[in-house]
Amino acid sequence: MKLLKSSIVFLAVVLLLWGALVLCAPKDDGIFHVVIDPGHGGKDPGAVVGDIYEKDINLAIALMVRDKLAREEGIKVSMTRDNDTFLSLTERADFANDLNADLYVSVHANALDDETYSGIFTFYSADKPSSKKPAEIIQRAVSKATGAIDRGIRTEYFVVIRETEMPAVLIETGFMTCSEELALLIDPVYQAKVADGIYDGVLAVISNH
Ligand code: ZN
Repeated sequence: MKLLKSSIVFLAVVLLLWGALVLCAPKDDGIFHVVIDPGHGGKDPGAVVGDIYEKDINLAIALMVRDKLAREEGIKVSMTRDNDTFLSLTERADFANDLNADLYVSVHANALDDETYSGIFTFYSADKPSSKKPAEIIQRAVSKATGAIDRGIRTEYFVVIRETEMPAVLIETGFMTCSEELALLIDPVYQAKVADGIYDGVLAVISNH
């Protein structure tokens, strides 16, 4: 019995030490790993206005961000989807967690019953304060690159920003229900501006890291 007790104590100490090692070990391989998540996809179109689907706008912008970031040394980019496929929200978060990514950026477009309302929002989870600064930086960068109304950052409990284990933001790139903004959101020239902003923001987050 005494032996069993001391074995348990020994095991507990070993586990504690191992835990401390895992937590403290720098996972820094010099590579900053970004996951870009184009919202919706496949059977889930997201917001729909006429024959325009949010999922397509999100993917177009996200692919541009990926291509720009992929050219940077020291940055690895992964996409939760790079075509029109459906993924659940949990699958998206699990994907980033399994990769042990450093930053998660979900790309969306917004919709509202007020057709005059436009601009950009960035959401982060209040459960994860480490996401606040990245949200501020990316929000500012995209607003600057596009000239759109800067609606600031907000907290939300969306699954992808909550269940991911790294700093995570969800950017609403504009309002599809505002006809002027919708015309911009489907224009590749404007999409590239949004992508430039996200790219600038991610670089700024990394240099702030
Ligand atoms: Zn969406």
